[in-house]
Amino acid sequence: MKKKIDLHVHTTASDGTLTPKEVVQLAASRSLAAIAITDHDTLSGYSEASNAAEECALEVVPGIEISTEYNGAVHILGYYIDLQSPDLQAELNWIVEERDYRNEKICSLMQRDGIAVSYEEMKERFGAVIGRPHFAKILVERGLASDVQDGFRRYIGKGGPYYQRRQFLSLERSIKIIRIADGIPVLAHPFQYRLDDSELRELIEHCMECGLHGLECLYSGYTEKQSRYLINLAQEYHLLATGGSDFHGSVKPLIQLGCGTGDLDVPYSFLEELKKEHLKMP
Ligand code: AMP
Ligand code: ZN
Ligand code: FE
Ligand code: FE
Repeated sequence: MKKKIDLHVHTTASDGTLTPKEVVQLAASRSLAAIAITDHDTLSGYSEASNAAEECALEVVPGIEISTEYNGAVHILGYYIDLQSPDLQAELNWIVEERDYRNEKICSLMQRDGIAVSYEEMKERFGAVIGRPHFAKILVERGLASDVQDGFRRYIGKGGPYYQRRQFLSLERSIKIIRIADGIPVLAHPFQYRLDDSELRELIEHCMECGLHGLECLYSGYTEKQSRYLINLAQEYHLLATGGSDFHGSVKPLIQLGCGTGDLDVPYSFLEELKKEHLKMP
């Protein structure tokens, strides 16, 4: 049987709804050969996942997803990161501080409208990396939104009454810091940025100047034609191809671990190439 993997997975360490251990158990029950934990702005889910994986035949890759700003949002994935890298830790601490600053403002706006939310309680409940999906969850629980999507649409998405900007690490620094931490930087979900062919090429070329090593070619909802286009781009630019579902659990109910919206099929060979690249890195 062909070995299947999923290299883009979120847990409760960021805004996923399954704990790292539950994600590992689900991956094992789906007979996946490997998953990468790629939480937003934190590496803290990896050790629980890796411990849980010792009990089953599942490989867990340490990873991260950093949200950056570059003519809009661009996400950079990093694989096989040195979890102890002090430089990366310092940047991640800064990102969490900026999140806290933004999140406190969202809380105040909600409180002013009579929604009883305490940021302290949110941190206790959801952990260190609080994102807007957590606020959406609270809005759903309070009966103010029908689901997370609705919460984004009506309250915390751009243009909504509780929308607040936050500061991002730059695209350039995000790629460099992953390299400094011995990781492999990969451009996440390239079709999410609504770029045409020449704009996407420009983005890829700019990222490569900063040290990009890979392109996420297989992703939930991408058609076969789109995937083929991205794989051709990766080959043309001598970038590694990666792929994953962007599983978040029940906050993104249409996306399933391993198979995305149904037909995602990421081959183990992608991970083999990633490992080879990591061994080659200086
Ligand atoms: P934050 O980084 O805290 O501003 O939250 C952004 C995260 O919210 C993204 O990484 C997505 O996972 C999630 N997100 C953004 N828009 C939506 C949406 N319309 N519905 C559900 N989740 C969303
Ligand atoms: Zn997320
Ligand atoms: Fe992303
Ligand atoms: Fe993601």
